Amino acid sequence: MLVIMDARASDEDIQRVENRIRELGYTPHPIPGATRLAIGVTGNKGIEDRIYLEGLPAVLQVIPVTKPYKLASREIKPENSVVSVGNAKFGNGNLVMIAGPCAVENRDQTLRIAELVASKGAHMLRGGAYKPRTSPYTFQGLGEPGLEILAEARERTGLRVVTEVVDPGLASLVAQYADMLQIGTRNMQNFELLKEVGKLGKPVLMKRGMSATLDETLMSAEYIMSHGSHDVVICERGVRTFASHARNTLDVSIIPALKQVSHLPIIVDPSHASGNRTSVIPLALAGVGAGADGLLVDVHDDPAHALVDGPQALLPDDFSQLMHLLARISAALDRSFNLFSTEATEET
Ligand code: PEP
Ligand code: MN
Repeated sequence: MLVIMDARASDEDIQRVENRIRELGYTPHPIPGATRLAIGVTGNKGIEDRIYLEGLPAVLQVIPVTKPYKLASREIKPENSVVSVGNAKFGNGNLVMIAGPCAVENRDQTLRIAELVASKGAHMLRGGAYKPRTSPYTFQGLGEPGLEILAEARERTGLRVVTEVVDPGLASLVAQYADMLQIGTRNMQNFELLKEVGKLGKPVLMKRGMSATLDETLMSAEYIMSHGSHDVVICERGVRTFASHARNTLDVSIIPALKQVSHLPIIVDPSHASGNRTSVIPLALAGVGAGADGLLVDVHDDPAHALVDGPQALLPDDFSQLMHLLARISAALDRSFNLFSTEATEET
């Protein structure tokens, strides 16, 4: 349920309501809104206990939340959430570009590609130090030395870093280096991992499971949010279908559907969706056209020798072309698309 507080509620009024929620055995989640504060309640089964809250000072209304996910739902928070990672803002109408290699292969490769994508205006750097691979015989990632390389790339370029966490036991280590923690498609329902990552309180990029429904996706976001991190960005990266012409099928239809029921930002990964460089730009544009808040794309300057996912990586010139197209498309869609600049002062 959701407790709507009077706009003039004092800290004491709010504290009183939160205490009463805890006394009932539930968890309060204050949700500041543009015009009023609301307190989300999780842990309750029904709405019978509303009578213990309705009579308290400064409580305007107690309303049921009908969706199985609560904190991720628009019923609890009607306005869009904006997730900030440095200067990159997801969900405020602006378009965020995250680019980089699929994997951190070595120091030179990562620094080179980081400089390249920064020079072309990307807002964040991607790159896996821990890689969840289908085959145990393929490159599994550099591990902590890979995280150190990402941190150095951030130092040099100013780009904030998103990288994947594959193991709950490694979550706090990855969080020491990363600005945003990525949950991969294969781990979207690794609930212990979601809880651990949620507790760290850092922004999270959660990829949709490759066969997950919209409700399942939002329930996984709910795991992260209910454990402490409210800064969750969802990523559509393609789902498994019968189509054999692409690695996955990019489900752009989830973007408007998700925005209708959730306040969370959603971005699109056209690289893992297609598995094929020639499809990446068209799918990126489709994602933006459908309302995505940003993109995550693989970029490599020597994809023929990439250790992971070379065939889907954009070449530097392809990436420039995509950035130019995005500038034009975002203008046509009344979206803003400011290229990354190290001169931009960081808002807190
Ligand atoms: C990735 O982005 O590096 C990745 C492994 O993607 P996914 O989890 O979508 O397969
Ligand atoms: Mn990959």
